[in-house]
Amino acid sequence: MDYFSNHISRLIGELSRLPGIGPKSAARLAFHIIDMPEEEVEELAASMVDAKKNIHYCKTCFTITDEEECPICRSRSRDHSTIMVVETTRDLAAYEKTGKYEGVYHVLGGAISPMLGIGPSDIRLKELVERLRGDVKEVIVATNSSLEGETTAMYISKLIKSSGIKVSRIASGVPVGGDLECIDEVTLLRALDGRVEI
Ligand code: ZN
Repeated sequence: MDYFSNHISRLIGELSRLPGIGPKSAARLAFHIIDMPEEEVEELAASMVDAKKNIHYCKTCFTITDEEECPICRSRSRDHSTIMVVETTRDLAAYEKTGKYEGVYHVLGGAISPMLGIGPSDIRLKELVERLRGDVKEVIVATNSSLEGETTAMYISKLIKSSGIKVSRIASGVPVGGDLECIDEVTLLRALDGRVEI
């Protein structure tokens, strides 16, 4: 029996599709939203559509940015010969927060997962190889320490090894299955400093 109005049910349905939002939280948010002043609701909805429509991927590293090339790739003070490979823009943000990494990044947009049917051609590996034609001295693989992250790291190592460019993997200070985003800065820096060649 549907005892809510269809409009509210639809809103709850949409909200509960978001990560970390169960049916209860979705209902709580939905009722909060209908209690908000109409202008605020419009502002919220418009900001979502605006973010979605105006987001670009950096043409070099593929992080999410407002411009054609992100500020990190454009920066002259960064070391463009060191590329850290991460799975998502959120991982990049975690390393940027430490303020200690001076190289640039490459955002894969996921990890290889045979179980989910995500193969090497589904993430931005071709684009990474393309970048290695430039003056690159080291590729630091900072994918998550999940099975998918490790599989991706091994694949990248094999892919790049023959080019003679140094490939390293962040240290295992990052807990297995750990989401880079949730790890504190000290642990991230230790993982980066303790990286080993693979
Ligand atoms: Zn970039």
